[in-house]
Amino acid sequence: MSVVIVGGGMAGLATAFELHARKIPFVLLDGAERAGGIVISEQIDGYTIDGGPDALLVQKPDGIRLCEEVGLGERLIPTSPPRIAFVQRNGCLHPLPATSVLGIPTRLGPFAATRLFSWRGKLRMAGELFVPAKRDDADESIGAFMRRRFGVEATTYLAEPLLAGIHAGDVDALSVQALFPRLVEAERQHGSLLRAFRRQPPSPAAAEGAFRSLPGGLSELVTALVAAMPRRSIRLRTPVDRVRCDRSDGFRVETHSGELIRARALVLCTPAYVTSQILREAAVDLAQLCAEVRYASTATVALAFTRGQVDHPLNGSGFVVPRVERSGILAASWLSSKWSHRAPADRVLLRTFVGGARDPAALDRADAELVTLSRQALEPLLRITGAPLLTRVYRWVRASAQHEVGHLARMAAIDRALERHPGLFVTGSGFRGVGIPDCIADGRSTASQVSSWLSSSVSA
Ligand SMILES: Cc1cc2nc3c(=O)[nH]c(=O)nc-3n(C[C@H](O)[C@H](O)[C@H](O)COP(=O)(O)OP(=O)(O)OC[C@H]3O[C@@H](n4cnc5c(N)ncnc54)[C@H](O)[C@@H]3O)c2cc1C
Repeated sequence: MSVVIVGGGMAGLATAFELHARKIPFVLLDGAERAGGIVISEQIDGYTIDGGPDALLVQKPDGIRLCEEVGLGERLIPTSPPRIAFVQRNGCLHPLPATSVLGIPTRLGPFAATRLFSWRGKLRMAGELFVPAKRDDADESIGAFMRRRFGVEATTYLAEPLLAGIHAGDVDALSVQALFPRLVEAERQHGSLLRAFRRQPPSPAAAEGAFRSLPGGLSELVTALVAAMPRRSIRLRTPVDRVRCDRSDGFRVETHSGELIRARALVLCTPAYVTSQILREAAVDLAQLCAEVRYASTATVALAFTRGQVDHPLNGSGFVVPRVERSGILAASWLSSKWSHRAPADRVLLRTFVGGARDPAALDRADAELVTLSRQALEPLLRITGAPLLTRVYRWVRASAQHEVGHLARMAAIDRALERHPGLFVTGSGFRGVGIPDCIADGRSTASQVSSWLSSSVSA
């Protein structure tokens, strides 16, 4: 086999798709029963439930582009208006100021009007215009960056639940350079984020909202990708245990059942700690670096109600919960308001996120307990009465890669180590980008590097 790909999440599938487009033979091995990794959508009793990711960010176009290439372009749907996200403060939900970039307000009117921040907090945030830009290039946490520029309140009610929250991470551990280079660049170029973002024209796509999905959930993309590839090229229920280097002829990939598969090039698209395990004999240096990438565990809990059970207008996409609110959940999506056709008429589909770096013990709880704590968090805010019609719990153990301070330096070390192992490639959310568009972009770019390497090794 020319190329063996290990891992069939979005990164592995994107790598495979690109290799196939380049007519390079490959086999993709995945240990699970189904392809897609964290991406799973289910149709239950008329509800369409995404257990993992539900949205593709428009601003990073690789996800949208791949949908178009596999014939799903016409099926892409925007979020339903009003496209408002809320933040919980003192047990109430406050809309994020209407015009904002990553939650940072860009217009004075909505910012002045919001009750999400105190006047003191607002003054400190407005003072960002006068905070001198950082002089050195050292990495810092999202928390340190936001406190330095916007103060404590903006960090507590914006950065922690929103910027760190989407990664289920610790605001004082996650790297601003790795995860939000746009913020760092704005400071570097304009001296102030408020100045930078006020000057930015609204993106044309923003009129339709920042996200897209598919009517049957994001699994539609997985199904289309699998269908686009040769039938025998994807082997499920085939976990890989280890890899050995075959000095003369590439790699020997050993599956859990003891099967040996030879490969000239090997692309590992597994979580970084699995990649580390697989490489423990073939590339000790790389295995050590991969083991350093930390992961957080989360669960999502889907709950369905009749419309009459929920008194709140659900006029938005959902809300995030700052740590200081001491809620049992990290955030909630109002899936049936966010996307059309996610629930039957007169029904409501909600989804909570629990766990993450904030509450690592959450996943020790039984499913019924996770449902109970989700209900306890939602009921007073959304004025819900009665029991849910349907509940569903999805557990994501060590699934959220944490790109912590120093991640870019570690990544550079990983890339240097890869140079010492020709024909070996790593990709996936633990490495160069976390969200689906990033995983797709890096998977495809990795496939093009594999293609160049195969051509150069043949000519050599
Ligand atoms: C709850 C949740 C919600 C999210 N929401 C969004 C969102 O809305 N939008 C967005 O862009 N991103 C979102 N993300 C992030 C995004 O889903 C992931 O970063 C992305 O899907 C990761 O893809 P991956 O291919 O790197 O990894 P994975 O999807 O984890 O795939 C890894 C694959 O490797 C396989 N594997 C593991 N070990 C072995 C082995 N030993 N041998 C063979 N195969 C193995 C697994 O079975 C799996 O299929 C979310 C993440 C979570 C957890």
